[in-house]
Amino acid sequence: MELLFEKGGEGRRSRYLPSCDVPELAPKTHLRASAPALPQLSEVEVDRHYEALSRRAYGVCEGFYPLGSCTMKYNPAVNEDLAALPGFTDIHPLQPAHTVQGCLNVLRITEKFLCSITGMDGFTFQPAAGAHGEFTGLLLIKAYHRDREDTARTKIIVPDSAHGTNPASAAMAGFTVVNIPSGPDGCVDLEALKAAVGPDTAGLMLTNPNTVGLFDRNILEITRIVHEAGGLCYYDGANLNAVMGVARPGDMGFDVMHLNLHKTFSTPHGGGGPGSGPVGCKDFLLPYMPGIRVRDEHDVLSALIPERSIGSVRGFNGNFLVVVRALAYLLALGREGVPEAAINAVLNANYMRVKLAGDFDMAYDHTCMHEFVMTLQQLKDDTGVSALDAAKGLLDLGIHPPTMYFPLIVHEALMVEPTETETKETLDAGIEALRQIKKTAETDPETLRHSPHQAVIGRPDEVEAARHPVIRWQETKA
Ligand SMILES: *Cc1c(COP(=O)(O)O)cnc(C)c1O
Repeated sequence: MELLFEKGGEGRRSRYLPSCDVPELAPKTHLRASAPALPQLSEVEVDRHYEALSRRAYGVCEGFYPLGSCTMKYNPAVNEDLAALPGFTDIHPLQPAHTVQGCLNVLRITEKFLCSITGMDGFTFQPAAGAHGEFTGLLLIKAYHRDREDTARTKIIVPDSAHGTNPASAAMAGFTVVNIPSGPDGCVDLEALKAAVGPDTAGLMLTNPNTVGLFDRNILEITRIVHEAGGLCYYDGANLNAVMGVARPGDMGFDVMHLNLHKTFSTPHGGGGPGSGPVGCKDFLLPYMPGIRVRDEHDVLSALIPERSIGSVRGFNGNFLVVVRALAYLLALGREGVPEAAINAVLNANYMRVKLAGDFDMAYDHTCMHEFVMTLQQLKDDTGVSALDAAKGLLDLGIHPPTMYFPLIVHEALMVEPTETETKETLDAGIEALRQIKKTAETDPETLRHSPHQAVIGRPDEVEAARHPVIRWQETKA
């Protein structure tokens, strides 16, 4: 496909804008010596170009998108309109508080709702993503220990069923990462945890539901062991879609956590758009919170920085409009709707898991949360068709593949997250597609090994694409 830079011709432009009717004033010193090599195109050429680009992309509006650990659910479009209201978009973060009472109220109410959903005592909206939230939460843990002059606590325990960002964030925050294994049931190995904790334990990070889609049945025991050793407990709540309104991390003994508004609370995930990973904590960690906190004095809202704040982790209140979408979503769903969404997410995942259990090996044979993991090791041994081949084959059937080769603790993994927003017909079609892949693997494995056959791009060299991405157009002087 040609780039805009390769299209167009001298002098083409949109004819509808009036020409400049004031003198052009630019300091000579700031003028560039030669005109930039910008493409010159008519409006319709530009329009067709972007239209063609959008047709090459696959999104949740095209079809089923069961990408595990990503919660690619359909988000109500009306929330986009609400986030685009001029009262939210046409303000400046440095405006005096009395002129932005409504926006401060959005932060305050959303914080209150998130507290009641999670059992935390306060939230900051500064972090721009889940991993950013983890980093922020770990800095809170660090500040807490440092304030108590407990400087020996330098280690963060991370089970092997944690999301990959957990150990990375802990290392970035300056901690030593201690990995502990999970048992054959997919839950944290309690004996390994007991052996790992000690006077050097700063805390534990638990992804729950974990990356194999299971709710850790020993969760209360886990937080008790860590607390008894003097550590704090961090809850990776990026996948709250499975438990929101049903169970609260704050009641399970967690001190600090993050949420992904861009997974669970009505901001589309993926595509590189703005995200939000608010961090919540218990009372005793609130003095360390980054950024401003909204204070309510007789219904007059003001903003203040906590006394022992770790500083700012991002400008102002992070991606504020993502918070507006979350509030709209929460208000629309209400007390009944929030747990209903979670329950349906879990129901849909278990429906697919049970239906597919006759055709594929499940990595863990019990009730899952919002996602489940299959292992295609046996299929690969029998037919030579790998999880990658199966995923590529699904593209030809018009379905976005599940997450593949993650979590790392399962061989030839496919991780399926249907989400609560899909109908039974869509789930059934997804099940049929996976069954068809299996049939093709048994009868015509060669076809799958060269799939996709319908997609615009076949099999790119993914390592090359990740290590040496070509994302910038270079002018080639003819
Ligand atoms: C997605 C995810 C993250 C990371 O969130 P980002 O916004 O991509 O940084 C962390 N933990 C879990 C469990 C996740 O699913």
